Amino acid sequence: MLSRRKLLKRFSGLPLVGGFIAGSSSIPSRADDQEVDEKKVPRDYFAELGVKPIINAAGAYTTMTASLMPEEVLDAYRQTAGEYVSLNGLHDAVGQKIAEMVGCEAAMITAGAASAMTLATAGVLTGLDEGKAKRIPVDLHGMKNEVIVQKSHIVGYTHAIINCGVKLVVVESERELIKAINRKTAMLYFTDEHNLDGEVQYERFVKIGKEHEIPTFIDAAAGIPPRENLWRFTKMGFDLIAISGGKAIRGPQSAGLLMGRKDLIAAARFNGPPSSDRIGRGMKVNKEEMVAMWIAVERFLKIDYEKEYEGWKMQIDWLKSQFDPIDGLKAESIIPQSPNTVPTLVLTFENGAFSKTGFEVNKALIDGDPSVAVARPREDGFNITTWMLQPERLGTVAMRVKEELLKARV
Ligand SMILES: *Cc1c(COP(=O)(O)O)cnc(C)c1O
Repeated sequence: MLSRRKLLKRFSGLPLVGGFIAGSSSIPSRADDQEVDEKKVPRDYFAELGVKPIINAAGAYTTMTASLMPEEVLDAYRQTAGEYVSLNGLHDAVGQKIAEMVGCEAAMITAGAASAMTLATAGVLTGLDEGKAKRIPVDLHGMKNEVIVQKSHIVGYTHAIINCGVKLVVVESERELIKAINRKTAMLYFTDEHNLDGEVQYERFVKIGKEHEIPTFIDAAAGIPPRENLWRFTKMGFDLIAISGGKAIRGPQSAGLLMGRKDLIAAARFNGPPSSDRIGRGMKVNKEEMVAMWIAVERFLKIDYEKEYEGWKMQIDWLKSQFDPIDGLKAESIIPQSPNTVPTLVLTFENGAFSKTGFEVNKALIDGDPSVAVARPREDGFNITTWMLQPERLGTVAMRVKEELLKARV
């Protein structure tokens, strides 16, 4: 990646790059390593594969591998790869550590939040009954088989629930929700980011679940930041909480957290690997990922998050100052409500000022060299975030986006 090296040199004089961003400097950078030791050229696996790295000014998107593991997480990963351990024993120990750190009854590592949804649902259906666990999803005889969800909370991820063979019962109001509850109801499902979109919100939802003794599950996969959401939903009374490990927490992309009631976590574990005859057998998490996830949570609770936030805010404000002079472009620095409540630059094309749409500029940036990804492209603009960006790439983002915007100016 010659061009990247050149760019790095070109922007190294930029006082803003790498200066005020000290708070987020723990994002590992291969480019930095190269600068330190010019002679030792590490093997470039992506180049050998012909896969182009992306400069991520978009955010935590799974299709772009979402986040980068910090050094201490990578250390934990590497250091644990060289020994054998009991996978179940490690599972127990890591789960307990996380439960203690976060302050919930029980926790387990899953293969991502989607996997947590499948395992949690299976656990609610089977408890610790092996015969039942073996029959999921083809024969739910003797098990409850309905999961209730508010219409506005249905996202593609609910497929992870119906994997278990259950039926989603869709309701639109509190009255419908209560009416839909019957002896077949296994679980009530809720999506954090759609809290305000449904008639029944957090506390009320939990209360209805408790009144009818039906477990409530919240998908808070992308619900962090704020950091408090790691413990907020257990405190609120949700029985099961799923969070992605590889988004804001920056653990392994293939890991996630399921937290909540002890009996339900045990039942979810029962439906997962390493037992072979289970719905979750394909959702394996190996030792390095488990330990790395634990360390990622530990680091996430320890870091000065205010300072990280401050750093992102300054980066966004600096980018804004770079784009403000462009005629016909409106640049606003905001913090969206949910999800991804991080400093965000919203760029909007004024009427007729640009010959290209936001989609087209986005494509030019992705196809460019280096490839730059921005967020939420639309007809009249796109967004930029820096919370998943390696700090030393900020200058490149400014330069490439400015280049493409100026090309598109009428
Ligand atoms: C990302 C996401 C998921 C899936 O999370 P993984 O950790 O990738 O499995 C589920 N639900 C929502 C709302 C998400 O944003």
